[in-house]
Amino acid sequence: MAKDYYSTLGVSKNASQEEIKHAYKELAKKYHPDLNKAKGSEEKFKEINEAYSALGNEKSRQQYDTFGTAESSAGGGFHSGFQAGNFGFDFSDFFDEVFQGFGGMGGRRRGPRKGQDLQYELGIDLEDAFHGAEKTITFEKYAVCEHCKGLGGTNVEQCPTCHGRGVVQSTKQTVFGVFSATTNCPKCKGEGAVVKDSCKYCGGEGKVVKERKLHVKIPKGIDTGMSIRISGEGEAGERNAPAGDLYIILKVKKNSTFERKGDDLIAAVPLSFIQAVFGDEIEVPTVDGKARLKIPAGTQSETMFRLKGKGMHSMRTNESGDEFVKVRVEVPLKLSKKQKEILEEYAKHSDVSLQKGFFSKLKDAFSK
Ligand SMILES: [Zn+2]
Ligand SMILES: [Zn+2]
Repeated sequence: MAKDYYSTLGVSKNASQEEIKHAYKELAKKYHPDLNKAKGSEEKFKEINEAYSALGNEKSRQQYDTFGTAESSAGGGFHSGFQAGNFGFDFSDFFDEVFQGFGGMGGRRRGPRKGQDLQYELGIDLEDAFHGAEKTITFEKYAVCEHCKGLGGTNVEQCPTCHGRGVVQSTKQTVFGVFSATTNCPKCKGEGAVVKDSCKYCGGEGKVVKERKLHVKIPKGIDTGMSIRISGEGEAGERNAPAGDLYIILKVKKNSTFERKGDDLIAAVPLSFIQAVFGDEIEVPTVDGKARLKIPAGTQSETMFRLKGKGMHSMRTNESGDEFVKVRVEVPLKLSKKQKEILEEYAKHSDVSLQKGFFSKLKDAFSK
């Protein structure tokens, strides 16, 4: 058995929970480092707490009795061994305060706060996303006050309340007696320094709202929802603390010609039924300009043709996606007398048997 917690608390192995609790309270009062300045009292106080965390509740005590260790005290985290409400008051509150007395367990000195991150939503055209672009954005943010150079004023001196420590001791009456706790200094808010002559331009904050103009490089291939982080372009921190970051959230606007699907683009192109029947070579749009596309004879409506590598640049693979040209075969709405005759002649030579006149049927279809 590594440690005899019973002897640490000075109780027998058969001691009741009541006795253990009583012994612990007495010892905690006696060795609390804020009350007992003798050498080794802090160490002793920690041992007492460790012992109590093991024996103070039935479950961990059983574990300790059986295995010689108390799971709950592993790593010195005595908090976990306690069960709130054991003593009819909020035990955890008490310990939070007591432990603030030990460096590292609380009572952290709070320095000036880092500046906030900012978000800027930027809408760009598909062409910009395709080629990459450079944009200028303008926004308002807290920037370092030039008058006081971010210090908040002149005559910065050590805080007289905490003498630069940033924390102060305060005492509190508890069932264990009077304990002292460490809290942030109310005068300097934990910074350890105060400004004697507050800057009248920023009210002592060290930062003021200013307009900021920024050139932003948009990488090619960027898509809606992606963001660009610009480090240090968020709001200024308090009194020269680091600035936050700026996140530019991209939104690629809808395009009238191209529909984007990941790194691929889809463009719908009309095709006359004659072109579909005989085949043709047509001009199709790409984001980069016009391209030629061969349409084979007998092409059906909604057929997709692939233009390899004509899609968006992929930020994942560093290659380019494809463009798909979807042809939509169009039926003529108006026919000349000659065209009608030719098509009626065509109908006679095909399998189509027209119940009504072919063209009156067409007319019906369009008047619906
Ligand atoms: Zn200022
Ligand atoms: Zn202070």
